[in-house]
Amino acid sequence: NSRPIFPFPANEPTCDYAPGSAAREALERHLADRTVVDVPAVIGGRKIYSDDVETVHAPHDRSRVLARIHRPSAAQVAEAIQSNLEAAHDWARMDFADRAAIMHRAAAIIRGRMRHRINAATMLGQSKILDEAEADSACELIDFLHFNTHSAQRVVQEQPLTVASAQNRTDWRPLEGFVYAVSPFNFTAIGTNLTCAPALMGNVVLWKPSMKSAWANHLFFEALEEAGLPPGVINFVPGDARMVTDAVYGSRDFAGLHFTGSSEVFRSLWKRAAAGIDQYRTFPRIVGETGGKDFVLVHRSAHPEEVAVALLKGAFGYQGQKCSAASRAYVPASLWPAVRGTLCDLLAGWRVGDVADAATDMGAVIDETSFRKLASRLAAAKGDPGVKVISGGRCSDEVGYFVDPTVLQVDDPGHALMKEELFGPVLSVHVYADADWSDLLHVVDSTSDYALTGSIFCTERAALLQAQDVLVHAAGNLYVNDKPTGAVVGQQPFGGGRASGTNDKAASWMNLVRWTSPRVVKETY
Ligand code: GLU
Repeated sequence: NSRPIFPFPANEPTCDYAPGSAAREALERHLADRTVVDVPAVIGGRKIYSDDVETVHAPHDRSRVLARIHRPSAAQVAEAIQSNLEAAHDWARMDFADRAAIMHRAAAIIRGRMRHRINAATMLGQSKILDEAEADSACELIDFLHFNTHSAQRVVQEQPLTVASAQNRTDWRPLEGFVYAVSPFNFTAIGTNLTCAPALMGNVVLWKPSMKSAWANHLFFEALEEAGLPPGVINFVPGDARMVTDAVYGSRDFAGLHFTGSSEVFRSLWKRAAAGIDQYRTFPRIVGETGGKDFVLVHRSAHPEEVAVALLKGAFGYQGQKCSAASRAYVPASLWPAVRGTLCDLLAGWRVGDVADAATDMGAVIDETSFRKLASRLAAAKGDPGVKVISGGRCSDEVGYFVDPTVLQVDDPGHALMKEELFGPVLSVHVYADADWSDLLHVVDSTSDYALTGSIFCTERAALLQAQDVLVHAAGNLYVNDKPTGAVVGQQPFGGGRASGTNDKAASWMNLVRWTSPRVVKETY
């Protein structure tokens, strides 16, 4: 029977949080609630509260304590791995449709009863304005569950040819061992994807979320448990990164890594897997999505107002803390005055502040480390004769970690500001002579150590095709006449190459297939 059990899903529509609506009131109640939440580790279905607690504050209001994250000990992480392995046998043998039904129920719980609570946790804990939180912890999270199910189903339905002399079959087995999922602070939904994609394929998963998103991630974990996820299939260990990683890499059953975070950490995790290769039962699957220095390339045929709007949203949405953020732009001299003028006008009306305030466009950067790094880069830029501050440039950590949306004009396209990821609200712009388009394409390519996303604004077909050809490896997600952020699950499978990761497109069959170790069976009678 080839009839799909899970048809191609539609994307989750956004909730209407109009002022005065029941949704808005519920959200505001959660935002105003000052209860400090205790977030436990969850191992084999047991909640573990420890004395080793990390306190999480709101990045935009450092005086506000939000949560206490209970970090498990090394012995408890070892227990978690053991509990994963004990759950593996039955989970792998559960019918695919039953595993998928759990994911669908979790999506329904988030949609029906948890949406406002998880959005509030994402807004406060990760300093996201409502629109960004709704797109992440509600829509994208639900979409990941639905689209992963659909994609996983496509994988398991893929079967070889059977002929008269041989009945052939592929058993889509999970990996042998456990998968280590390491999720970042910037999207609550990414934690959902990093854990549920391998779990759908029958894997058990040890989940180490970022401390900054652990509150929102734990709310999702509660939805999964309520949806019927058996104990031990996914264990939630919000522990010290080094300690958890040591436990994982010390186990012969470490079978895979599903990672989103910095290129630097991903490289170190990859090297450690290589160094320990003799001790593992299998060659661990390593899948990662890392950093970006995403370009917006403007041709003289582009519309300057469209470019300015795309730069505003692409560079400064969620404070530029997206791997996909527009962080470098190349603008032809003929369009620069119009692009700069519109962008500066838009920025003049852009409000930075408390994310709970509906008028705010941008919250704070995530923590002190990020704030200090950005402040020092901006100080250096101000003293650099090859860099001009076009807009912004100020930072203040008095109330929260606020960095102004900043536009820098950079003379040298090879400058570090055009190459290095800052993960903050800083856009570097290089202005080039209109006639240099062809040369510029090679400059952009040669300065693309990362290759995650990119945008080309151009209305001349020949120039557009030339750019796509020269920049063939410079982006895994390429946008034409649109900003480089906001890939929609199921519409733009997401991921990039070079230093940006292994490009195993999130929520597509290309990712799901990595979490299987298929057995092909030939039967003859
Ligand atoms: N998928 C997100 C986007 O398209 C970015 C994810 C990330 O920052 O890791 O904007």
